[in-house]
Amino acid sequence: MPELPEVEHIVRALRRSVRGRRILAAEIKLPRLLVGSSPASFKRKLRGARIDGVNRRGKYILIELDNQQVLVVHLRMTGKFLCIGADQPLPPYPHVVFYLDDDRRLVFCDMRQFGRMRLLPAKKLSALPQIETLAPEPLTDDFSLAYFLETLSKSRRSLKQLLLDQTRILGLGNIYASEALFLARISPLKPADSLSKRRALRLHEAIREILQEAIDAGSTLRIDLTDGNGSYFGTTERFWRVYERAGEPCVNCGTRIRRVVQGGRSTYFCPRCQRR
Ligand SMILES: [Zn+2]
Repeated sequence: MPELPEVEHIVRALRRSVRGRRILAAEIKLPRLLVGSSPASFKRKLRGARIDGVNRRGKYILIELDNQQVLVVHLRMTGKFLCIGADQPLPPYPHVVFYLDDDRRLVFCDMRQFGRMRLLPAKKLSALPQIETLAPEPLTDDFSLAYFLETLSKSRRSLKQLLLDQTRILGLGNIYASEALFLARISPLKPADSLSKRRALRLHEAIREILQEAIDAGSTLRIDLTDGNGSYFGTTERFWRVYERAGEPCVNCGTRIRRVVQGGRSTYFCPRCQRR
């Protein structure tokens, strides 16, 4: 499942590829991925609309149209966009096809079919419950140290579990939560409200650093939306400091990385470097 940095790359790739294009028509092959509108009204509202911007809030992709509508897309497990030429065959699982005014097609494919798409007036976006409840964007000033300290003080959950709660701390999935805690040298098992201010500052910095690092790493990849077979992220192996490295030596101290299960999800950490 893509985490926030990967969604950011997809947004940038979409922006490069389709911004300024008009949607001549849309074809819906899997109606149940549309939320809140029938295929007929979805198609009618998209016809002739120009794509003015592609942005993101959390992991929701926002495709902004010149008719004051916004298409909100969540990729979930396996959703992806591909952009193909008129003579290219459709990729597998092409659930929604947007016909663009330059003869290309923007195709939303999804093997597992958990992805969702919703078209709504742009002015109603911020009131959409899934959007409204999201914590501040982690790489903006809204995610301040003051906000972080207050959020920590109000939670007795373990740090790892709090970091995964997108309504409190946005942007960390299972991989980056483990990595950020390792970078900050704090145990994932520590209760959030017991963290000292000094260590909270370190974790706040680590969260931003780990996300920025992931975004920077991906920008050298340049996702190619025209790769029909596609793995977006190609064959490039990312190196994780602790994630999925149970039993391997810690990069700092050589101690074996441990794996524990928290809230049904695996957590990886160094029992020596990451103190409670
Ligand atoms: Zn260590």
